[in-house]
Amino acid sequence: MTRFAYVNGRYETHSSATVSIEDRGYQFADGIYEVVAVWHGCAIDLVGHMDRLERSMNEVQFPSPPLRRALGIIAQEVVRLNRVRTGILYIQINRGTAPRNHPFPGEGVKCSVVMTARHGLGPSASDVDNGVSLKIQEDQRWKRRDIKTIGLLPNVLTKQAAKAAGAFEALLVDPDGTITESSAANVWLVDKDGTLVTRPLGPEILGGITRSRVMTIAQDTGRPVREAIFTLEDVFAAREVFLTGTTTFVLPVTNVDDTVIANGHPGEVACDLRDRYQAFLDSHDPRTSWHVA
Ligand code: PLP
Repeated sequence: MTRFAYVNGRYETHSSATVSIEDRGYQFADGIYEVVAVWHGCAIDLVGHMDRLERSMNEVQFPSPPLRRALGIIAQEVVRLNRVRTGILYIQINRGTAPRNHPFPGEGVKCSVVMTARHGLGPSASDVDNGVSLKIQEDQRWKRRDIKTIGLLPNVLTKQAAKAAGAFEALLVDPDGTITESSAANVWLVDKDGTLVTRPLGPEILGGITRSRVMTIAQDTGRPVREAIFTLEDVFAAREVFLTGTTTFVLPVTNVDDTVIANGHPGEVACDLRDRYQAFLDSHDPRTSWHVA
């Protein structure tokens, strides 16, 4: 089936879609992005993703960012053209195309916008059933991890190192010994009192849309949640550890490096939240889920 991409005002076949070699995304990683889950034809938490996209564009000072309503219409069209029922929508916005020079280009330069969509979403059944392992690594990213920038080389390197070690993801640790997140998901634990713990929002982590949704789901079901800084020691003493993310949903962690977490099986809290998150996905209505207001 032919795939389609949106590139700067045009819908093109995926194979012929191109951007300029002087696009600042290519030259400087001067761009931001979002990955949105599409579930049975519905966009999941699109308003949250649009809010974060606008926030990222603001933080990196894009002078005239594309309008949210236009982005919403393009997003839906890209998903429709690609006949994606369940998969991901990818949105990337760069500062624009201009002769290579570090300072921002002049006023006339417009942001470049690319959107693609592809089939397939969510963790494998075996990862969900058995839980996954993490590999501990130093967090080598910049100091504004709250901005969803396309500058992902440290994430790529840590994910690759995890994969090479047979692990699913990286467990990133800052030089002060505190856990930040993983290369593409937020990290949670359930402490010995049964309280859910995840790192507070701040420049050290990306504010995950799934993190926020799972927090609401947990609180609505009466589970205690604490946003707090935690360390490897807390991870090893935890009753449960799990990840949240657009593509991982709620995914139990059963090993960190060579250490087994609790009894080595997905925990009751993570499984319950996973099921509730699944119900949340199913609750979307295709007629309203694309509204971005
Ligand atoms: N942290 C990082 C570094 C990520 O790249 C991602 C998602 O890609 C997340 C957390 C999870 O965020 P979300 O739930 O919005 O997908």
